[in-house]
Amino acid sequence: MQTRFAPSPTGELHLGHAYSAVLAHGAARAANGRFLIRIDDIDGSRSREEHVAAALADLEWLGIDRDGDPLRQSDRLDSYAAALDNLRARGLVYPCFCTRADIAASLSAPHGPSGVVYPGTCRNLPDAERARRMAAEPHCWRLDMGRATAEAGKLLWQEAGQGLRVADPAAHGDIVLARKDAPASYHLASTLDDAALGVTHIIRGADLLASTDVHRLLQALLDLSVPLYRHHALVCGPDGKRLAKRDAAASLASLRVAGIDGPSLAADLAAGRLPAGYSLQNP
Ligand code: GLU
Repeated sequence: MQTRFAPSPTGELHLGHAYSAVLAHGAARAANGRFLIRIDDIDGSRSREEHVAAALADLEWLGIDRDGDPLRQSDRLDSYAAALDNLRARGLVYPCFCTRADIAASLSAPHGPSGVVYPGTCRNLPDAERARRMAAEPHCWRLDMGRATAEAGKLLWQEAGQGLRVADPAAHGDIVLARKDAPASYHLASTLDDAALGVTHIIRGADLLASTDVHRLLQALLDLSVPLYRHHALVCGPDGKRLAKRDAAASLASLRVAGIDGPSLAADLAAGRLPAGYSLQNP
């Protein structure tokens, strides 16, 4: 049994992160399993080293111990590139040259679970045009969702308390797997890492429930093990909205400075008790 907590070092951790970490850590300890920390630091433009140190200090303050050193996604770029090569060789990804503005301007771009559904402009470009533009233009790599879902067939996952869920990756459209400025998307990197680390139980916020549709598809395409999932309720602030990085009052650093005891807070969160004004809600 192995769980993990995977912060992105793009800001301070807040009560929502603490809740997630406490649940994943508690589940591992209760089962005599392992608890890992993964640092999702491949977004070079937004990741900051000081946030890595602060996140580790926050977890220590909460009394959350870990097994082994934290893994950094920035150390795993070769694995992401190898997976992308594999999908490329099978014709399951294609280069996309569209800018955000191009996509927004496309009248046929409806919204899906992860934002605008890509209208497919670059999906079937002639080989010669593709080769010429790849040499000259920045591009990302998109999954050809139609082909991928046809290859993968019906996909299920086990969700704690709910039983089997059917994954619906098609609703996401041709998602990006590697970006112009980052060698792998969250979906690709996270799915590969969880399998490589042997994570058996993924415990994370319900905001990532829809992402599991895509992760389940990538597991099938790349022949990866399928963990069990638990998507938990989200911590909301006094305004009833899900906490975000801008909610400074809920940051773990400010709670610590206010004299709150970390391990007591962790025990309260584990029991579903939140500080006054905060609540747990299912999206
Ligand atoms: N770094 C991701 C986040 O903070 C991790 C998501 C996950 O647990 O898969 O949202």
